[in-house]
Amino acid sequence: MSDIKCKLLIIGAGPGGYVCAIRAGQLGIDTVVIDEAKPGGTCLNVGCIPSKALIHAADEFHKISHASQGPLGISVESPSIDLARTIAWKDDIVTRLNTGVAALMKKAKARFVSGRARFLDGKTVQVTDGDSSFKVHAEHVVVATGSAPVELPFLPFGGPILSSTEALALAEVPKTLAVVGGGYIGLELGTVFAKLGSKVTIVEAEDRILPLYDKALTRPVAQRLEELDVTVMTGTKAAGYEEGTLKTDKGDVAAQKVLVTVGRRPRTIGIGIDELALTLDGPFIRIDKTCQTSMRGIYAIGDVTGEPMLAHRAMAQGEMVAEHVAGHPVEWDKQAIPAVCFTDPEVVTCGALPGEIDGTKSSEFPFQANGRAMTTEREDGFIRVVWRESDHAVLGIQAVGAGISEMSAAFSLAIEMGACLEDIGATIHAHPTQSEGLQEACLRALGHALHI
Ligand code: FAD
Ligand code: NAD
Repeated sequence: MSDIKCKLLIIGAGPGGYVCAIRAGQLGIDTVVIDEAKPGGTCLNVGCIPSKALIHAADEFHKISHASQGPLGISVESPSIDLARTIAWKDDIVTRLNTGVAALMKKAKARFVSGRARFLDGKTVQVTDGDSSFKVHAEHVVVATGSAPVELPFLPFGGPILSSTEALALAEVPKTLAVVGGGYIGLELGTVFAKLGSKVTIVEAEDRILPLYDKALTRPVAQRLEELDVTVMTGTKAAGYEEGTLKTDKGDVAAQKVLVTVGRRPRTIGIGIDELALTLDGPFIRIDKTCQTSMRGIYAIGDVTGEPMLAHRAMAQGEMVAEHVAGHPVEWDKQAIPAVCFTDPEVVTCGALPGEIDGTKSSEFPFQANGRAMTTEREDGFIRVVWRESDHAVLGIQAVGAGISEMSAAFSLAIEMGACLEDIGATIHAHPTQSEGLQEACLRALGHALHI
């Protein structure tokens, strides 16, 4: 391939990079996006989408397997699962999305180029694809290289020691699985394998699972893990692996496989940023309100810029950067970024947590008092609003409950539009739905809840 000149070069076609490419193409910017892998990045290939596919499959299998023990009068004879077929189904979804993303970029007239990019200087990258090597010269460059799993030196990936990528492609359900790290990935995938029949042990260094969130929010998840016979070892550090056993400072754990999910690191190594004068923020690339780095003309978006490492944040940054390159007066002014942990039950957080901002109070509505929750046999969890005492502005909403992820948009919309308790309390919420819990939490804050 011969050298390329363009206005905008994007390195990485994950949610950050491909959205930036689509929007830039729509704005008529001559755009090239480079990735060494298939379009879609971590999220689409080995992250959000494959993990949610397996969560769905495991939920269905577990529900069917336990139907006879439930109160609904359904009886089922010992179902089984062929994990290789489940994985093939998941791979098919990924392929459809790879093709879809490639088509969307093409429709927007953004050019996708395969290869590995490395900066030569602030406006030029060297691209290597097999034996071919060429240069791309651009006026603006976006670094959207994402992140990779953190490896523990005493549990190097390979063989029975898995990162999330290998765990999403297992052909058989392991009899025993130890998960090191009880955060997002460890809990989502640990629950999958527990529902598929593995004996799962979660080893978490902090004193509780999902330590970013408060105890009230994570309690229903911990209770459900107990029901699923998952052993949770908190305040425990993994130390190594020997013949089917994970060694920890609190004793041995039987583990045919060990899934290590102790966080992700930015992919800044090997892309030549040492050649540039980019300022870092710890291991991440430092950015300003327009996602510009310390070097003029170079932007960074997504996981490579730090927490929260979420696909929808990367996408929003990508869209904004395309607008900025087009000369529009934009900057990052989002009030809140929702985060969903797809555990069982699911956890959603958006905006301020209780106690995070002075002068705020919080109020909860439990699903035990919600008719819809009763009809779905899932009364665990609650919705909570955090509001400012002076003007009743809603600054944060959290919830834990089965299927509650679908309400995350209502939470962020309320916060983004500056809703106050009275706005949500006066909005008609359809009956019977879990969403009534949000209205009730606001009414409760105002002192006149109706159903509690
Ligand atoms: P990435 O998606 O990591 O994409 C970066 C791309 O850059 C990759 O395709 C890579 O091949 C390419 N690249 C890197 N270096 C080079 C180079 N030198 N040359 C060429 N190409 C390069 N987030 C959510 O919001 N919701 C979820 O449910 C969720 N679930 C997840 C589940 C798992 C198991 C994992 C691992 C992550 C999950 N995430 C989830 C996080 C989400 O995947 C990331 O936040 C998101 O993918 C970040 O997007 P990005 O564009 O910054 O980078
Ligand atoms: P995480 O930061 O969510 O959790 C890592 C956990 O490992 C923490 O609880 C930490 O205390 C623990 N830990 C760290 N070192 C340890 C050790 N030596 N021994 C035992 N425990 C240890 O990280 P993750 O689960 O790897 O996920 C990475 C990122 O991917 C997340 O921060 C999130 O942004 C993103 N993600 C998001 C979703 C989602 O949105 N649903 C799903 C998966 C991943």
